[in-house]
Amino acid sequence: MIRSLLIANRGEIACRVIRTARRLGIRTVAVFSDADRHALHVREADTAVHIGASPARESYLVGEKILAAARETGAEAIHPGYGFLSENADFAQAVLDAGLIWVGPTPASIRAMGLKDAAKRLMDEAGVPTTPGYLGDDQSPARLKAESDAIGYPVLIKAVAGGGGKGMRRVNAAAEFDDMLASCKREAAASFGDDRVLIEKYIERPRHIEVQVFGDSHGNVVHLFERDCSLQRRHQKVIEEAPAPGMDEVTRTAVCGAAVKAAQAVDYVGAGTIEFIADASEGLRPDRIWFMEMNTRLQVEHPVTEEITGQDLVEWQLRVASGERLPLRQEDLRIRGHAMEARLYAEDPAHEFLPSTGRLDHFVLGRGVRIDTGVEEGDRISPYYDPMIAKLIASAPSRDEAIDRLIDTLDQLEVWPVRTNAAFLARAADDPDFRSGDVDTAFIPSRIDRLVPELGAPESVWNLAATAMLASDFGRGEEGEPWDSLQGFRLNVAPDLKVAIAHGGETRLIDAGGDPPIEGIATARGENVLVFSAGQAFAFTLPGVGGGAAGGAASDGSLVSPMPGRVLSVDTRQGDTVVKGQKLVTLEAMKMEHSLVAPFDGIVAELQVGEGEQVTEGMLLVRVDKGDA
Ligand code: ADP
Ligand code: ADP
Ligand code: MG
Repeated sequence: MIRSLLIANRGEIACRVIRTARRLGIRTVAVFSDADRHALHVREADTAVHIGASPARESYLVGEKILAAARETGAEAIHPGYGFLSENADFAQAVLDAGLIWVGPTPASIRAMGLKDAAKRLMDEAGVPTTPGYLGDDQSPARLKAESDAIGYPVLIKAVAGGGGKGMRRVNAAAEFDDMLASCKREAAASFGDDRVLIEKYIERPRHIEVQVFGDSHGNVVHLFERDCSLQRRHQKVIEEAPAPGMDEVTRTAVCGAAVKAAQAVDYVGAGTIEFIADASEGLRPDRIWFMEMNTRLQVEHPVTEEITGQDLVEWQLRVASGERLPLRQEDLRIRGHAMEARLYAEDPAHEFLPSTGRLDHFVLGRGVRIDTGVEEGDRISPYYDPMIAKLIASAPSRDEAIDRLIDTLDQLEVWPVRTNAAFLARAADDPDFRSGDVDTAFIPSRIDRLVPELGAPESVWNLAATAMLASDFGRGEEGEPWDSLQGFRLNVAPDLKVAIAHGGETRLIDAGGDPPIEGIATARGENVLVFSAGQAFAFTLPGVGGGAAGGAASDGSLVSPMPGRVLSVDTRQGDTVVKGQKLVTLEAMKMEHSLVAPFDGIVAELQVGEGEQVTEGMLLVRVDKGDA
């Protein structure tokens, strides 16, 4: 077994790898950027090496710096985590050339699966069913169009080098084809430096089914069953589960068998995932599941597989990388119960999922479920990286109970002032269609309005805040006094006792002697009373205290960049007349896209940025004038 390991990553996955390495008695080395100097993965590792400035391309993406850190600390092996350099064949080769152990598949396997067209070709040859389509030998627009016509609309144009849900365009009719092709190629060139595309039949009622595979250097390959990752927003996974609801044994045997065949075709060593797309218009059927792509790394959602199989996949990775055989044979692997993972993001669903950064002043994720995270209370969510703050993994004997546990945890979560998608996740998990297992990738987009929480605090939350303020003698008592739970609590006060409190710029007079508050938790923090209810956080103050909850545009119509990022598109011109809510500029920050919209009807008085430009936090992008009104 290897004795020392450098983890070339950050956040929850670095902490996850460290946890297993420590249990196995392996010395761990963390690497960190400026922004991560005090990060949890640095605190948890035995040693940590600074590798550069905050932007990933100056630190976590610089292979030479990682190799230098390994040399400096005498690390024997490198675990890449996911994202960053994990699927970079050149880096894997450089690790091997430096005489180190690469905890991952061979560079040849990574290369074979790196481009979607080449991977599909390889799978065709190996007899693995692939999504019907055109692999794009001839990239002329006329040929691509003719092939799409032949496949029949809708089709999906996909960048061969794509990933992370980027570089894809659905085309519904021939008339849209040329525009969609051009915009897909533009995005592919900008994001991946390769504008080649392939065409696929767009699968209706698609479900994302993937199979965890594992190989060792002795020629063994097993699968660890399937996961369903159909709950996606913008082609990015939000909730994942294992096993897939509605999967029967015949279909499971077919798809898991195809996955093993796919892994064998590239002599796969280590952890990998074969992603399939299923046409679920008539349930899951063995003849309606096709290979989509292979991810040659540990996947974000690997914990649900660990939970249903009772295995530690990072341990498997480290054993295989050390030259050992797979810990179990296929016939020794069984599915036990059901597991569900929700990705908790630092973002604000009520404001177009804008990423939310800052210090986690209050951060309690709850108990009773597995929590994989890279942060603790007091840590900061920086604008430089992915906004995922934790994965909540609920397991139970049945799918229904796993859903209940997940929702309970999300409902009770306490995070402030950083915003999270917890309420959004809880609503998705509690949807009757989700509960019945009726899922496909359109699940979230088709009911987005119902899943996004309303702006402002519900009445029950105002009541709880008012009661809490009275109960604590707020504003006069000791600071930091918590009330663990005021559920069912009734104040012994006159029924006409009223208290004035403020939230989000609004002040209300609340009758605090009324009914007991319904659900929620209240806590005092400085001049705020925080109420946590159904996954959301609300801050209240006495009237006239603090600035209230600002957000969005300043009242003069200036739209500033909320964080460092890149301008993806400018959808307006100086002098344009715009209406409230109209999209003006789209930014890419923290791996997410988000749009800045007109705060009111008016005229674009200033436009300071162009497409492709880098912007810094607080930079003025657009200013809208109310005009003559
Ligand atoms: P996965 O396929 O493992 O679920 P996704 O497809 O959702 O991952 O994510 C897209 C890409 O972004 C992948 O390359 C993944 O490794 C990376 N990624 C996702 N979340 C994070 C994160 N928190 N930190 C770094 N990289 C991430
Ligand atoms: P990425 O490399 O970005 O993960 P994938 O090829 O894995 O790209 O596709 C990402 C998502 O896009 C899938 O999970 C699925 O939701 C959707 N998708 C991909 N191919 C198709 C298709 N042919 N028809 C319908 N949806 C698709
Ligand atoms: Mg994918």
